[in-house]
Order: sequence, then C-alpha cells, then structure tokens
Amino acid sequence: MQNLERPTVLMDRFGRIIRDLRISVTPRCNFHCAYCDPLTDAHPEPRGILSVQDVDNFVRASALLGLDAARFTGGEPLLRKELPQMMHNARNTPGIKDIAITTNGTMFRRRHKELLEAGLNRINISIDALNPSIFRQATGGGDVKQVLDAIDLALELNLHPVKLNAVSMQGINHTELLDLARLSLEQPLHVRFIEYMHLNNSDLESYNSAFLSGATVKAQIEAEYGTLEVVPTDPSSPARVYKIPNSQGSLGFINPISEPFCGACSRMRLTADRKVRPCLLTDRELDANAAFDSANPIEALIDVLLEAAHKKDRMGDLLPKIRERTMVAIGG
Ligand code: SAM
Ligand code: SF4
Repeated sequence: MQNLERPTVLMDRFGRIIRDLRISVTPRCNFHCAYCDPLTDAHPEPRGILSVQDVDNFVRASALLGLDAARFTGGEPLLRKELPQMMHNARNTPGIKDIAITTNGTMFRRRHKELLEAGLNRINISIDALNPSIFRQATGGGDVKQVLDAIDLALELNLHPVKLNAVSMQGINHTELLDLARLSLEQPLHVRFIEYMHLNNSDLESYNSAFLSGATVKAQIEAEYGTLEVVPTDPSSPARVYKIPNSQGSLGFINPISEPFCGACSRMRLTADRKVRPCLLTDRELDANAAFDSANPIEALIDVLLEAAHKKDRMGDLLPKIRERTMVAIGG
C-alpha cells in the first residue's frame, strides 16, 4: 500500500533530484589498478556483504522514491556469481528503467549470456591502455586482449552506447591517450577520459605528479585530430562530450576535479558492506545494517535514503586527503 506521506521523488537540501543508484557488489577484483586499491580476488568475499535480497530491498526502496537507474559496480562486479540474479530483480522492479554495469571486461565473454538474460542493457568497460605492457603495468597484471575482446562482444551484442572508461595519468598511460581516442574513429565507441581522483590514499607527491586535467588531454587530442565537435548532452551528465569530425563514436571528458559537476549530481551509492553513501568524494556514510535486518526492510531503507539525501553535501572533497575508504570499497 502506498504510504501517503512518503515523497515520490528523492530531493536533497540543495534541490538536486536523486535518480541514479550505484551499487558496489564486492570490494574484490582480479586487477590491481594503482588508483583504486582493491582486495585481490584471492581474498574470500568479506563477511556481511550485500546479499541478493539486500540488493532487491534497496532497489525497491529506491524505486519507490523515484530512482530509475541502477548501475552495478565494485570492485569487479562480475566476480559476484549472484550478479545476474541481482540484475534480474532490479529489471523487474517497477520504476527501474535502466540497468548497467561498469566492469573491467575480463569475465564478460564468459558471463554475457546470463547477464543479458538478466536484463543488462548498458555496459561501461574500463581500459586505460592499448599497449599490452602498459596495460599490464596499469592494472597490476591484466591482459588487454581480454578487454578488447569484451569490447568487440559488447558491440556485437548491440549494447549501445558502449562506453569505455580511461583514467588519464601522467607517467602511467599518458602515451596511450591518443590511441584510446582513435578507438572512437571507426567504431561506435564512446571513450571517456576520467580525471584521476585522490581515492587511493596515495602520497600527495605521486598523486600531483600523475594528475592530468581533462583540458590537457583534450588539447593533446585536438593537436593530433583537429578541433573536436561538441556533442550536445543532458546537462546532468558528468561528461562533456565531443567527437572527432566524421568519427562513429565520441570522446567524453569527465573532469570531477578541474570542473566539478557536483551541482548536477543525481547519485546515491550503496557499498558492498551495506552502507549508504551520498557522495563519492566525502567520507560520510550511513550504516544501513539495522534497516536491512529489520522486519520491514523496504520501509526502513526508505528512511535511510531520505536521511542520506538530507545529508548529501553540496560538494565533495576534491582536494587530496586521507580517505576512510579507497575507491574500490566505495564503488566507482
Ligand atoms: N572493476 C570495474 C571497472 O574497473 O570498471 C568497476 C569498478 S571501478 C572502481 C569503476 C571505475 O572507476 C573504473 O572506470 C575506474 O577506472 C574508475 N576509477 C577507479 N579509481 C579511480 C580514481 N582514483 N580516479 C578516477 N577514476 C577511478
Ligand atoms: Fe579492479 Fe576496476 Fe579497481 Fe581496476 S578500477 S582495480 S579493474 S575495481
């Protein structure tokens, strides 16, 4: 029965409407990217991790408050064997229109059938380099062939728009950025260059020396390919989108540090250990354990979501600082 006092939209104190859920289903990963700091896949899944039922309750509570998109991330979400079931439940939740994953792609070929059956309609694949040895170094041992294969498969399966994420880092993959941009020329691939955020508790000097602004990357790309054309986009989207003239895909610049988009933030996060996190770049989290374990978890989670929206900060902590949790535990 509809609770007449419950708002049908989740709005924060600054008038931002929260529509997008990010669910981190594991802090484990089979890669070890320098900027992210994951537990390895040799670790067992930590205790108290989100169950299929937890995710279902949280997605239902969110949908009752008007959230309509759920993205599964991690860690590496495809390490969770229950991921298809979680996605299937989200797909069958009234109000949820969009189900997506962010993945390193390594297990996509192996698992794509069950993910498609579960309702996957969008995929972001992370790829920081095309050169095998630079890729191996950036990911702590990854094989770029597997990721390229996942990208080909996503295109074959028409999971458009297929978006690729690359974190731009001086000294790590700066020599790869033009080749990554080139991927958008002949295939409908949407390559997004993301500014490195200080979410791995690295020392300040190494962070500052690796940081590359989106404007610097764009200038390098324009020096090679000519002036990029602007692609009009939804103003709430974090990416500024362009294209190389006559290319099939596009190039996006996600500049959370040099051009913060907090004013249009529409996100709420759920961490793998049952915490609700209003902002990627602030440490504030709400412990939702009691709500998940209560007799009526959906109503209790609605209360947690309302409180989390109320506590969402106007802006994240953009400057480097020691964080209570690193990226992999938050969910990118
Ligand atoms: N394992 C999956 C993957 O790599 O796509 C999903 C999780 S990962 C944390 C999600 C995204 O966050 C990836 O595209 C990754 O490149 C990005 N990311 C991780 N750490 C980051 C950081 N410190 N700054 C900017 N982006 C980061
Ligand atoms: Fe793993 Fe993704 Fe983090 Fe890389 S960015 S270590 S692939 S979770």
